[in-house]
Formats: sequence, C-alpha cells, structure tokens
Amino acid sequence: MDIVHRYGEWIKNKLPDNPKAASRYIRLGLRLESFAKRHLGDKNVPLPYRDLNCLALDGMLHTLEHPESAAWTNLFTPVEILQNFDLTCLSIEMMGSFLSGFTIEDWCIDQAEAEGIAPTLCSYHKAFIGAVDAGLIPMPKCAVTTSIVCDANLQTFRYTADSRHIPTTLLDIPNEKTKDSLAYVVKQLKDWIAQLEDLNHRAFDLDKLRDTLDRENQSFEAYRHFIELTRTRYYPSTLTLQMFVLYASHLIIGSPEALDFFKRIETDAASRPVFSGKRIFWLHVLPFYEPALKHAFNLSKKYQIQATDMNLDYNLPLDLDHPLEALAEKMVDNIFVGPLDRRIDAERRLIRETGADGVISFNHWGCKQMAGAANLMKKALSDTGIPYLILDGDGIDPRNSPEGQIKTRLEAFLEML
Ligand code: SF4
Repeated sequence: MDIVHRYGEWIKNKLPDNPKAASRYIRLGLRLESFAKRHLGDKNVPLPYRDLNCLALDGMLHTLEHPESAAWTNLFTPVEILQNFDLTCLSIEMMGSFLSGFTIEDWCIDQAEAEGIAPTLCSYHKAFIGAVDAGLIPMPKCAVTTSIVCDANLQTFRYTADSRHIPTTLLDIPNEKTKDSLAYVVKQLKDWIAQLEDLNHRAFDLDKLRDTLDRENQSFEAYRHFIELTRTRYYPSTLTLQMFVLYASHLIIGSPEALDFFKRIETDAASRPVFSGKRIFWLHVLPFYEPALKHAFNLSKKYQIQATDMNLDYNLPLDLDHPLEALAEKMVDNIFVGPLDRRIDAERRLIRETGADGVISFNHWGCKQMAGAANLMKKALSDTGIPYLILDGDGIDPRNSPEGQIKTRLEAFLEML
C-alpha cells in the first residue's frame, strides 16, 4: 500500500467517531501536498501548472479553514459576484476530486448510499454528501448553484445546504437565449446580490466587477492563444492538471491569480519544442487516477490532451459596459445549455479550432447528461472524420471504472490514431 492510500486509511479510520480529527488530517495533507509540490515538484511539469496545482490546494485549504468566508458552488456559478464579496468557492466537483485524491471517496460514497442516496447519483455528489453528513466539511457562509446541465446540483444543494439553513441560492438558467430570458437571469442576479449585501453587510461594487470581467476577458484571450500554440507545440500535462485548469477557468476566473496563470502558459508554450505526436480533445471530466489513461497521457510525448470542452464552455468577450447582462449571457450561452444540437455545433467548432487528431468522450458514472449525449454526439461528429472514443468509467471512484476494458479500448484507439 503506498503512502497516499495509507494516509487515506488513517482518515477513514477516524471518520466514523472523530470527524474533526479526520478533517485535521485532510488539512494537514493539503498543506504537506502543497509544500511538496512547491519545493519538490516534478521539473518535467511546466512551472505555471505546478503553481496552479499549489494555488488550488491552498484554495481548498482556505475554504476548509475559513468556512465563514467560503461559498459552496457548482462549476457554472458566476463566481465573479462572490469574488466581489471576497468569498472563496468550493465546488462539488472540486471537493469530490480532492476526496478521491486522498483515496477516501469510497468511504464517503458508501456513507451517502447507506443513508439512502441512490447509487445511480453522480459520484461527485455522493462523495460530497457523504463528506458533509460525516462532518468532514464545515458549513460555508452561503451556497449557490445553477440549473445548468447537471440534474443533480439543485437536489444536492437543497439537501446539504438549504436543509441546514445555510443561505442557498438556486439560479434558474433558461434553455433559450432571448431578450426575456436574459432579463430573467439578470433579475435573479440582482436579487442574489441584494441577499449577499445583507449577508456580508457591505455594498456590491460594480466597478470591481468590471475589473474582474476585464481580467476574465484577458484570461480567455490568453487561453485561446495557448490552445492555438499547442496545435504545434509540446506542452506536457497530466490528467490531474487538466482538471486543475478547471479551477482557474471556473472557480477563480477573473482573479489576478487566474490571469497570471493563463498569461504564463501562453508565454511558456511559445518557447516549447515542436510536438509531433497526436492531440486529443477531451469531452467532460477526467478520471485522473486511472492507470491506463495515466500511462498513455501523463507527460507523454506521443499523446497530448490538448484541452477539455469543460474549460472552453464559454469564451466570448464579456461586455464591460453591461456586466450583469454579460454574466447572464455567459450562463445562457454556455455550450452545455439548451438542446444537444447547440452543444454538438460548439464541440465541432472546438475540435476544429484545437486541431485535434482524436476525441475522447468520458461517460462518468451517474452523469445523466453525458450518458444521454455521448452516442448522439459521436454520430453527429462523425462528419468531422476525426476518430471518437467513448469510455465508460467514473471520474473519482475506481470501483466504477473497468480497468481492463478502458485499457483495451484505449490502446486500440491510440493505435488507430
Ligand atoms: S459529472 Fe454530470 S452529474 Fe456529476 S456534477 Fe458533473 S454534470 Fe453533474
């Protein structure tokens, strides 16, 4: 048993009777991991990625140590508004991934199922629910989620936060972009801001939001240029790092730290050697623990995961003159919102822009939207002529990822490429 699993076992042993001690172990583990990554990190990993890794670890630690200034969110929450009140974000996907990193996701998932949560619920949600109910995650100042794409979010937030009287906001995002639908979302944002003003005893600062959106625009411009550069440049990465990019592109987007990260990868990529291997465009979450995938992609010179659709779900410039309208448009126009045809068109455009040689679509256990969309997308995108592989598994729980099947199918796919 390696040290990570042994550490996970200690936490699991403490969890039933002493969740406070288990939580202390988690925080200590995050501190040690951040120290190790900062001082002993793999030099083959580009420095901006290593720094992003530390940033995400420190961000996670902060939400656990200072729950009074933390908000629970989903990936699509307009975090720009929470930043206005200096609140840090903890998303369900992020928490689930960290639990998996500690190898304690199985305990949390089993705990949720033992309480009566359906086994067919997405594992990120089950792990989150199990960890909250076990007392591993302290209650935040507030919680906010959107109805975008995920059928589990609303219920999980009602169950974990609202039922415990944490101020909870559910943003309802319409499927169609019309003048009325945008106005409907803006109205919800204004109501939510008023609640946050009451909760934080301070006024919302519109100019501060403009600065945030300005940095966000610059970040996505730099990211787009980075993606363009990686059509020909070798930029080593790992499955885990691709998930960490979600932290920058969603949970801290608009912050100076996120802008710094995107500018640095842009500059760094320009000086990298030419890449002559195969580029993969990834759809949905990445199972960063999966042995065959790690072997194929982590720091590989033959196959490069260039981008994931989740990191590029909205990347049009935001209108600084109308910041709330811009945020409403960002949510309504997200590629995961609305009929599948919209998403297929967006994926087709992204595949073309990234110049990918192959597409891997990951069917994460319990994710209804992906289970419903994967085959239809494969069929619709066959006109691109780019090989498309669907892998079934679980983003965080190895028990739901058939190792042998993934290995066989992946190897055949890469050989074909
Ligand atoms: S994987 Fe699917 S079900 Fe799970 S959180 Fe993401 S969108 Fe929701």
